[in-house]
Amino acid sequence: MPRLVNIGCLAACANPAGQDDIGLMRDATLVWRDGVVRWVGPAAALPAEYETEPAWSAEGRLVIPGLVDAHTHLAFGGWRAGEFSDRIRGRDYLEIAAAGGGIASTVRATRGLDEEALLARALEFLSGMVSLGITTVEAKSGYGLDPETELRLLRVYRRLDEMGPARIVATCLAAHVVPPEWSADRAGYVKLITERILPAVAEERLAEFCDVFVEDSAFSADEARRICERGCELGLRPKLHVDQLSGGAGAELAASLGAVSADHLEYVSEAGIEALAAAGVVGVTLPLASLYLNQAPPPARALIDGGVAVAVASDFNPGTAPSYHLPFAMTLACARQRMTPAEVLKGATRYAARALGREGEVGSLEPGAAADFAVIDAPNVEHWLYHLRPNACVATVSGGEIRHGVLREA
Ligand SMILES: [Zn+2]
Repeated sequence: MPRLVNIGCLAACANPAGQDDIGLMRDATLVWRDGVVRWVGPAAALPAEYETEPAWSAEGRLVIPGLVDAHTHLAFGGWRAGEFSDRIRGRDYLEIAAAGGGIASTVRATRGLDEEALLARALEFLSGMVSLGITTVEAKSGYGLDPETELRLLRVYRRLDEMGPARIVATCLAAHVVPPEWSADRAGYVKLITERILPAVAEERLAEFCDVFVEDSAFSADEARRICERGCELGLRPKLHVDQLSGGAGAELAASLGAVSADHLEYVSEAGIEALAAAGVVGVTLPLASLYLNQAPPPARALIDGGVAVAVASDFNPGTAPSYHLPFAMTLACARQRMTPAEVLKGATRYAARALGREGEVGSLEPGAAADFAVIDAPNVEHWLYHLRPNACVATVSGGEIRHGVLREA
């Protein structure tokens, strides 16, 4: 049974309650077996039965649960750097989309790639994520928007999960936008989703969640309701992109549909916050997207004070968040969303796991949880998120196996 010793500071994130309660321990030891945590606590309290086990040393550093990125669009074709410059010059997101750019241009590039090409690209991104301390990644389809390509993207995610650099949780986002070939028949596209795409996804068990982008430029609340209700019948739990570019009572919709998470929330209202809290929906904030779109960030303080568990994720995608650097998003959540480093860590571990229906399995270090953790070159969480570096992660361990970096024997 391997042990990790000489942990200067360990954040267990074991308490389900309290956004800022990350369960800090000084001079800790972590013990696991067969990829699962058996014991965690102060080194001085280590039970005698574990004392002779082989040990690795954290060399006095910070140890956190493996990070959970609860919102990404991991597999896609092409990039959209031109739009980055266009937006800086003053063209807005909706104007670019109306001219055939935005999501539609990524859909064209994605449809042109076969499964192997999409897999190779996504694997490269995933390797970068693992090196940053990420061990679980939610990955959405949504750049296929036809049955064949949506399933291709989800099969890529299944293969990535089997390959094992990180755990992948797949979401079907066939309702990302209405693709151009269906623009004259929106109802026909919604029917394609509910009658062909979602049943095929459920049949092959390719996703756990069903997501809808609820926005004037994408899907209405009524369309989202129809899609999510069909998803629920098929065993796909709802997640929603809401209140990102305009306030449209999206949070209230997510609460009424029993969504596991409501993501974006830049324009969430007070009533929306109350509805999320009452329904126990996780609010997922995406600081890179609000940064790249030059938007005011979501009101994270009001969400937390209103009783909503707030997760922090990257939204990695080729348009509005072209970076998978979750620790950078976490620093942004501190600086722009006025969340403390402890609140942000809870949001990228335990509460991110909650947003994926994985709470207690990943995102925390407690007996029975996966032995997924990252060793960070910092004395504590504050120092790590304050002193932003290209990569402060010394080692990433998933299921008890080193996936990035090295650990010395103690
Ligand atoms: Zn997104």
